[in-house]
Amino acid sequence: MKPNRRQILAGVVAGLCLIAAAYYVGKFIDRPAQVDGGYRQVMGTFARIVAVANKPRQARTCIEAGFDEIRRIEAVCSAFKADSELSKINREAFNGPVKVSPELFGLLRKSVEYSKLSNGAFDITVGPVVDLWRKAGEANSMPGAEALAEAKSRVGYEKLLLDANTQTIRFAVAGMRLDLGGIAKGYSVDNAVEIMRQKGAIAGMVDAGGNIYCFGKPLDKAVWLVGVQDPNLENSEPLMVLKLQDYAVATSGDYRRFVTIAGRKVSHIIDTMTATGANKLAGDTIIAKTAMEADAISTAVNVLGPEKGLALIESFADVECILITAGPEYRVVKSSGANSYIMEN
Ligand code: ADP
Ligand code: MG
Repeated sequence: MKPNRRQILAGVVAGLCLIAAAYYVGKFIDRPAQVDGGYRQVMGTFARIVAVANKPRQARTCIEAGFDEIRRIEAVCSAFKADSELSKINREAFNGPVKVSPELFGLLRKSVEYSKLSNGAFDITVGPVVDLWRKAGEANSMPGAEALAEAKSRVGYEKLLLDANTQTIRFAVAGMRLDLGGIAKGYSVDNAVEIMRQKGAIAGMVDAGGNIYCFGKPLDKAVWLVGVQDPNLENSEPLMVLKLQDYAVATSGDYRRFVTIAGRKVSHIIDTMTATGANKLAGDTIIAKTAMEADAISTAVNVLGPEKGLALIESFADVECILITAGPEYRVVKSSGANSYIMEN
C-alpha cells in the first residue's frame, strides 16, 4: 500500500526530529571538557596536569601522556637513578668521552648556554657541592673550608667538554658530577605540553614542582591563573596572581626547600661563587616563553640576587620577573614588563 501524504509528512518530521536529537546528543558528548589530573609524585616533587579537549576521554588521554613524558625524562635526567643516562655520564665521563642521546646532548648544550648567559650563576656541574651540602645536612654539621674548596674545584661549566661532532661528553676534572635539578623539570613541562597538543589538547596547564606552562584558554575562566606564593608561608593568600596564555612561569626559592644545619638555614640552590647556599633572594618568579627557560633562569636569578638578577632579566626582550628580596623585611622587585602578567585586584 502506498503511504498517503500525511504518513509521508509524519515520516519526514520524525526523521528530522531524529537528526536534531542526534545533533544535540553529539554536541553534548563532544562539548570540550576540562579534566584535572591532580597532583602526582614525580621528579622528587609533585606534578599536576589539567587538560582541555573535545571529549573528556581525550582530555584524560592527554593527561596520562603528559605524566608519562615527565616520567620518561626523569628516567633520562635523574642523578639519583643509577640506570639513567645522566648517571652513566657521571660515572664514566672522566675516563673518556661518553656518547649520549641527541636529546640529552641538546639539554646539556642548552644548560651550558644558560651558564654563559648568567656568568656561571646557573651551572649544572654544581653536583659535588650539592652533594657536600646534602651530606652536611644529614650529619647536621657545617662542611669544613677544606671540603668546600675541594668540592668547588670540581665545579665549573668550562670543565664540561661537549663534542657536537661525536655527540660525546667528557669531564676535564676527576669527581665531576652533573645535576639537572635546576632545568629538567622545566624541560619536562615543555615536552609534556608538546605531547598533549599532539594528542589533541586544545588547552592545558602543566606544573612540575612550580615550573608551569599554560596554553590556550581554560573552560572555567578567561585565562589561566597562577598564584605567586607569599614567602611568609603563614599567609595562605598568594602574594599576587599571574594570568598566563601560551607562557611559562617558574619559581625558585629557599622558603620551601632548604636544609637546616646546626640551626642555620641553607638553600638547596648553590651560589657557585661561594659554594654555599644562595641567600640573596627569598624567592624569584620568572615568566618566559618556555618552561625550560623559566626554570634555568629562575635558578640563575636566585643566585645572582636582586641587582644582577634584574639586570639579566631586563637584557631579555621576552622574560619578566618578580623578585622577593631576602627577609626579614621582604621587598618585591618587578621587571619593567611584569605588570602585564599580574592580575589587578
Ligand atoms: P626547585 O628544584 O626547587 O624547583 P630550582 O629550579 O631552582 O628549584 O633548582 C634547584 C636545584 O638545581 C637544586 O636542588 C640542585 O639540584 C640544582 N642546583 C643547585 N644550585 C644550582 C646552580 N647554581 N645551577 C644549576 N643548578 C643548581
Ligand atoms: Mg630552576
